[in-house]
Amino acid sequence: MQKILNYINGELLEPVSKQFMDNFDPSTGSVYSLIPDSDERDVELAVKAADEAYENWSSFSPEKRSKIMVRISELMEKHIDKLAEAETVDQGKPLWLSKTGEIPRAISNIRFFGTAIEHFASEAHPMGDHAINYTVRTPIGVVGCISPWNLPLYLFTWKIAPALATGNCVVAKPSEITPMSAYLFAEICIEAGLPKGVLNIVHGLGPKVGSSIVSHPNIKAISFTGGTKTGAEIARVAAPMFKKLSLELGGKNPNIIFADCDFDKMLNETVRSSFLNQGEICLCGSRIFIERPLYEKFKTAFIEKIKQQILGDPLNEKTKIGAIVSEPHFQKILSYIELAKQEGGTILIGGNNVKPEGRCANGWFIEPTIIEGLSYDCRTNQEEIFGPVVTLTPFDNEEEVLMMANSTQYGLACTVWTENLTRAHRISQKIKSGIVWINCWLLRDLRTPFGGVKQSGVGREGGWEALRFFTEQKNICVKL
Ligand code: NAD
Repeated sequence: MQKILNYINGELLEPVSKQFMDNFDPSTGSVYSLIPDSDERDVELAVKAADEAYENWSSFSPEKRSKIMVRISELMEKHIDKLAEAETVDQGKPLWLSKTGEIPRAISNIRFFGTAIEHFASEAHPMGDHAINYTVRTPIGVVGCISPWNLPLYLFTWKIAPALATGNCVVAKPSEITPMSAYLFAEICIEAGLPKGVLNIVHGLGPKVGSSIVSHPNIKAISFTGGTKTGAEIARVAAPMFKKLSLELGGKNPNIIFADCDFDKMLNETVRSSFLNQGEICLCGSRIFIERPLYEKFKTAFIEKIKQQILGDPLNEKTKIGAIVSEPHFQKILSYIELAKQEGGTILIGGNNVKPEGRCANGWFIEPTIIEGLSYDCRTNQEEIFGPVVTLTPFDNEEEVLMMANSTQYGLACTVWTENLTRAHRISQKIKSGIVWINCWLLRDLRTPFGGVKQSGVGREGGWEALRFFTEQKNICVKL
């Protein structure tokens, strides 16, 4: 069986413990590869390699680092089919989505930051004719990047690309649930000639490998994407060590639909924003609020659309809804559907696990599920489910919908559907989230700040924000 290996000091290595864990294909429910069960000894080796590589890598000109990163992105293009298939088998998402969404975006991440660094500049503040201040931005040193399972290579590269571009060396940990594409990425880095030790990838469990990265004294900054609870634990450890922290955490995003919206456009996008990637995207809109005059029309049309969504083998090109990433997550989603029933919700469509015929009969599949009749403040409407489950709630006016939309502990993203732009802007000002989409969803420009408020996170990724996060500023004042 294929063994995934750590990438440390430019080499692919077994973990020091020689222990491996099972890695599952969620579409079949069976083990198809093995993942290193690394521990603090592997992290130590990775930090040592990164420390040693730092002087050289940080002294490269931006242009020289850029050339290597662009080469990595070109090799990713060359291996796009292999990367896409690996992502689908490991994560459960439909293959077309890996090919057209996830992997192309991972390639863009590397290219975007690999070229942005050539345009990155710092400021000067002249004090009349008697002095000048200029600010230099230097890399931080060795940094840690920890990513989740829902968009594995996409979110992994979203962190390591700005870290590497700015001259840091990285110790990275992908999710233990979806390690394969990061392993293939390590092979690509070797092929591209990335100097050894600049990027190190240590596979394994969060409480073992992740926590060793967070608590290591030589790791000066942590960029983390994952659950809010894990983020709180990371902050608890890293804050007293005065590490720089970027935390991208959970969400429970509202999708606000006014009766004057462009109905067809809204309907098609709402299908996507509800169930793309089995609803396992932190930006999915899981609470759908519909202005009352449109409620019944929307409900009927939405259910009809969802009936047409083909669920099953992620390798089948017609499949729209693939497998749920892991058995524990599958059980968690089903338990939330039960909770919704106990809380008085009515399942309008879906609600069950599915056993597709053929090779996926033992995989983890859940029907796209639409629920109505719940209060806005019940647990189903307040807690993150992170699966193919949405709720419908009618509203009568702006004040009411804003109150319900803003009622959760989260504040990542919001979608607003209306042809009344004045209202759209008004709602956008009042909504408590880091991102608002008006008449669209998941339309991404990599230059824009990305992140959430409240318990959805601290800090912003994307564009200059990410390059600033991975650098320290020093002001130098010269008396003329
Ligand atoms: P998770 O918090 O369980 O795990 C994320 C990563 O942290 C994994 O690599 C895991 O091994 C590691 N980890 C676990 N415990 C750790 C510890 N004590 N110390 C250090 N690292 C540790 O999250 P998940 O289940 O992989 O991902 C789903 C969550 O991620 C959802 O809440 C989702 O909303 C969130 N998410 C947020 C964004 C965003 O941009 N805000 C994007 C994607 C996913």
